[in-house]
Amino acid sequence: MEYQLELSFQRPEQPTLRGQPDDEAIRMIREFEPLALRNDPRGYCVYTSEGKDSRVLGHLMRRAGVRHFYIHNITGIDPPELVYFQRRIFQEYRDMGLTTYDIMYDKSMWQLMIEKKFPPLRQMRWCCAHLKEYRTAEYGSAILSLGVRKYESVRRAKSRDELEIAAHGRNNNGIIMRCENHESRRIFENCYTKSEKRLNPLAYWPDNYIWDYSHEAGLEQCCLYQEGFQRLGCIGCPLAKEAARRLEFERWPKLQAQWIRIFDKVIRLREQEGRVNEYASGQEWFEWWLGDRAQEIPIDTDQMMLEDY
Ligand code: SF4
Repeated sequence: MEYQLELSFQRPEQPTLRGQPDDEAIRMIREFEPLALRNDPRGYCVYTSEGKDSRVLGHLMRRAGVRHFYIHNITGIDPPELVYFQRRIFQEYRDMGLTTYDIMYDKSMWQLMIEKKFPPLRQMRWCCAHLKEYRTAEYGSAILSLGVRKYESVRRAKSRDELEIAAHGRNNNGIIMRCENHESRRIFENCYTKSEKRLNPLAYWPDNYIWDYSHEAGLEQCCLYQEGFQRLGCIGCPLAKEAARRLEFERWPKLQAQWIRIFDKVIRLREQEGRVNEYASGQEWFEWWLGDRAQEIPIDTDQMMLEDY
């Protein structure tokens, strides 16, 4: 899961007047079910972290009565409270007769740090491909349905929409479209490339739609929202702002200690390879990494990055 960035951006255009947002989402989900079944007899693949958005998405799928299954990618750096919550909710889904899969990362964040010898940065996230977007046979050729919303970040406002045809499983160079446009639906239905197709029924939902729906539906949500966390996902994700990351590391200090240990280890490895180290200790490097300034440096002006990549 990714994080909410500054909200000082142009709000996405409000959907033109349609029905109630949940009715519209259910209509959209039902409309594409035949296509989902043609792609995969198990129906839609609901990609979920069991955070608030994916809880709402799953509920809409169940209300729509369409065939679907759930996939959750284990990152190894999610908050323990979310991990326990997701495990319990998946058991509830299985008790309801629904299919669930937990997909383990192919390499842990710590293995990747040893390999890359540099931490993931907002400008260069090498971890998502291994922890979040790691595709296994369980995904099959299903249409993916995600709880992504344009209101979550500037990047998502620009790059995500209700219908997506993602080139090579990533959103880069893909096609994004509104669902209400007939031509968009035609392109989505008739695209026979191997690209990943995604249906995002919550793309235009602001936060209050999510919480209103969740309350009205009586959906249980992870306890961390009651502590004031607005978005849940990888602890210390470089997409989040410094203040939010500091709060996370204060809340889960063992993970901070683990990051500092791995920075120390990478410094030693770099020394053994005769490479330049800007930082004398893991603590120093960690402090730099937490700062927003570090995250905003364009890749091609960072000397260490140039050296490494
Ligand atoms: S830490 Fe952030 S960038 Fe890395 S896998 Fe998690 S969500 Fe993706």
